Amino acid sequence: MNAPEKVPTTPEPHVMKTYGRLPMALSHGRGCWVWDTEGKKYLDGLGGIAVNTLGHGHPKLVPALQDQVSKLIHTSNYYAAPLQERLAARLTEISGLTNVFFCNSGLEANEGAIKIARKFGHDKGIARPEIIVYEKAFHGRSIATLSATGNTKVQAGFEPLVEGFVRVPLNDVAAIEKVAAGNPNVVAVFLEVIQGEGGINPAKIEYLQAVRRICDDKGWLLMLDEVQCGIGRTGKWFAHQWAGIKPDVMPLAKGLGSGVPIGAFVCGPRAAHVLGPGNHGTTFGGNPLAMRAGIETLTIMEEDKLLENAATIGARLHDAFVREFKGVNGVVDIRGQGLMIGIELARPCGELLLKAANAGLMISVTADKVVRLLPPLIINASEADQIVAILCPLIKEFLAQPAPQQ
Ligand SMILES: *Cc1c(COP(=O)(O)O)cnc(C)c1O
Repeated sequence: MNAPEKVPTTPEPHVMKTYGRLPMALSHGRGCWVWDTEGKKYLDGLGGIAVNTLGHGHPKLVPALQDQVSKLIHTSNYYAAPLQERLAARLTEISGLTNVFFCNSGLEANEGAIKIARKFGHDKGIARPEIIVYEKAFHGRSIATLSATGNTKVQAGFEPLVEGFVRVPLNDVAAIEKVAAGNPNVVAVFLEVIQGEGGINPAKIEYLQAVRRICDDKGWLLMLDEVQCGIGRTGKWFAHQWAGIKPDVMPLAKGLGSGVPIGAFVCGPRAAHVLGPGNHGTTFGGNPLAMRAGIETLTIMEEDKLLENAATIGARLHDAFVREFKGVNGVVDIRGQGLMIGIELARPCGELLLKAANAGLMISVTADKVVRLLPPLIINASEADQIVAILCPLIKEFLAQPAPQQ
C-alpha cells in the first residue's frame, strides 16, 4: 500500500460551502478501517452513508474494477448494453420484479419513479396526478424530490415546490384510507421502508401490507424508496421483503455500487412499460464501470454471505446498545434493522460527530437527535464490539452533561 499522501486539511475556499465538514481529510482505507492524512485510524460505522457495502479496498472488487477501467469506462446509451442486461437480470431475480432503468444517484432514481407515477396517471386519463408522500421522508435534493421530502429545512428557500404531492404520517392506515376515499387524482404511494434521513423510522410490517392492499384495490402504484435501506442492509436484499410484499417501483442507489456512483429503478409488471422510447434517458446512467461495480457487489455479497452477516452483526449491535443503555436517562429509543441502526437521544447531539471522530469512529447524526450507524456489510463481530466500546461511553458522557440553556 502507498504511504498516506500529505494533503493540507485547511478548507479549500473554492469549494462551495454546502456541507458542515469535519476537519479530517481521509486518505485510504482497508475493510472497515479508514486512515486520515495524518495517519490516524478510524473505524467506519458510517459506510459512506450506506454506500460502502464492501468496505474499502475489497480484495475481489478492486481487481474487477481495475479490469473494467482498462476495458471500458463509458460509451453511451446509443449502443447495446450487455453489462446493463446482466445487472438488470440480477436485480430482477433478487427482487421478483421485471425491468430496470439505470441512472447515477438516489435522487435520479426517485425522479424516475415520480415520472412513472405521473405518466401512469396520464395514461389512465388523470390530468393532474397526485402522489402520496410522508412526513419525515427524504427522497433527495432536486426540485421534485425535495418537494416529495417531508422536511421543511430541505425545502426552505427553494419554493415554489413541485405540486402533486399529498402528505400523510407514517404507519397510520386511517390517514391513507381517508386520502383514498376523497382524492380521485391519486396514482401512487411513495415511501421509504425505513426512513433514513428522517431518523431511522421503520414502516411497520402490517402497515406495508395494508398499503400494498390499498394500492391494489385503488389501482395505484406502490413505490418503495430503498435507496438507503436496500441492497442487503437489513439482512434481506430489500427491506420490504420482511413484509412479504412486492412494490411496483423500487428506486435504488447508495449501496449498489460499493462506492461507484450508480442509481436504478426496478419495476414490476404494472409499471415496467409506462416509460417508452423518448420518455426518459441519461448520459452517464448504466455506464460499464458502474454496471461492473453493481454486478460484482451483488456477486460478492452472495459469495461472502453478507445478508446473513448484516442480520447477525446488526442483532449483535442492537442487543449491545439495548444492554448498554438500559436505564440510561436521555436514550429515547433504539431502532432499525440489520446494519441500519438509530439511537434516538432526548436532545440534539450533532456534536457527537466530532467527538466520535476524535475517538476514532465514523458515525452520523440525523434528524438532529438520532445517532445513526450504517457500517459496511463486511463488518465482523470484533469490529462491532469496538463500535459499542467507543460509542456508548461517548453517548453516556454527552447525556451526563447539563443540556445547554435554551
Ligand atoms: C440518500 C437518499 C436519497 C438521495 O440519494 P442521492 O444519491 O444523494 O441523490 C434518496 N432517498 C433516500 C431514502 C436516501 O437515503
